[in-house]
Amino acid sequence: MKIIGGISIFLLTAIMLLQVSWLNSMRNTKLHEFQEKSSSLLQRSINDFLDAEFMYPQHTFSCSMLDNHIFHWKDTSVHISSPTEFHFMLQQVLYDHLYKNQLLNLQRLDSIYKQQLSRQGITDTPVLYLKNEIDETILQTHAQSTHRTVRTNPVKVGYEYKHTIVALFHKPPFFHDTFWHLILEFIFLGSFTGCLLWQLQMTKNKLQTAKIQSMGIAHLEHELRKPLATLINITHDWIIQEKPSDKKILELIHARLLKISDVTEMMLFALKQDELKIERTPIDIRQELETTVSMFRLLKKHARIDYQIREDINQPLLDNVYFSCVVANLIDNGIKYNKNPKPEVRIYFEKEAGNWILRVEDNGIGIPSKAFNRIFRQFYRIEDKRTYSKTGFGLGLAFIKKVTDAYKGSITIKSIQEQGTVFTIKFPCI
Ligand code: ADP
Repeated sequence: MKIIGGISIFLLTAIMLLQVSWLNSMRNTKLHEFQEKSSSLLQRSINDFLDAEFMYPQHTFSCSMLDNHIFHWKDTSVHISSPTEFHFMLQQVLYDHLYKNQLLNLQRLDSIYKQQLSRQGITDTPVLYLKNEIDETILQTHAQSTHRTVRTNPVKVGYEYKHTIVALFHKPPFFHDTFWHLILEFIFLGSFTGCLLWQLQMTKNKLQTAKIQSMGIAHLEHELRKPLATLINITHDWIIQEKPSDKKILELIHARLLKISDVTEMMLFALKQDELKIERTPIDIRQELETTVSMFRLLKKHARIDYQIREDINQPLLDNVYFSCVVANLIDNGIKYNKNPKPEVRIYFEKEAGNWILRVEDNGIGIPSKAFNRIFRQFYRIEDKRTYSKTGFGLGLAFIKKVTDAYKGSITIKSIQEQGTVFTIKFPCI
């Protein structure tokens, strides 16, 4: 699934990049076309403009043709070989005349150019610039910022003056840099990839849950009930046969197995229920914690388990069935997920702002904060090389959550890797 996800993301990125490069080359081609078209229209407009200027009587000036191939103007003589060249020379000297006598009307050229452009479907308004030999602007039709503009090729005018005319257009949006296209494409790509990864993760989770759930609680019943029943029978036989000195220990083991069997039954039952029903009853909290803790002290001799109850607390209204199981699960986890040679678990029972507070602290391996929400799901176990060897079904915390919800309470976790974990459970007093 990871490979397919990777390939999809790679293909998508490749498509996006191809699209951006295609857009870029399209943009360049179109920009080039636009420049070519507007430049040739500018050339044509300047020709039309100069031809029209001949009609104004005040623009008359004298020039002559000698022997049909010498164009003579003032003290200048130029050899020409065709009527086109003659026409061209006439236009150039007319330009010099107009410019020299301050008769050049750039606005007239501008309106001719606009007409030509609109005939070709270009409605943008250009600014015309008249520039001298060293590219300084001498005249312009109106003010405009030169930012984001497209300019035509310069058209040479004048024989003596050697000026140029260029037109500047605001860049149509299509011609703007592809930078923003790129940003948008990448935002889109990022969101898409995020969604894809999220979906992959969800599918993975679902598959994992489905796989584990396929084992089913029925399978667990088989795994737990049968061995427990067998052990109970064996220890029962031993108690009958063994010497009185071993009898005490065997009786304790037998009692413990019976308790585990009860707890297993009760947990399996509870997990199958959509909602638990808690029957509140005053419990002797000291007795309750002492029983559970001494059981663990007997079974997990290497561990240190302490409990502390606030002095003024006696018989909180909790329940006889589930509460002790919650404590037992937390102690068990505190010892199980612990790399210390001497695991330590401390239990505190307090009262605060209308809640009974059960706090269980351990000095174990800790829980990564990203797993805080997930560990309460049924069958969820943290995939960690430190916990591979630990047996479990991922049901303990799911059960604790179910009980806490039934109490309408809450659970908080504080954990530091390699230092330990603190589970705080609040049970409302009423
Ligand atoms: P189980 O212990 O049977 O796997 P739980 O529901 O009790 O199931 O715990 C779920 C997971 O949470 C465990 O697999 C373990 O990785 C992690 N976990 C629970 N309690 C602790 C703890 N006190 N310290 C470190 N990890 C813990």
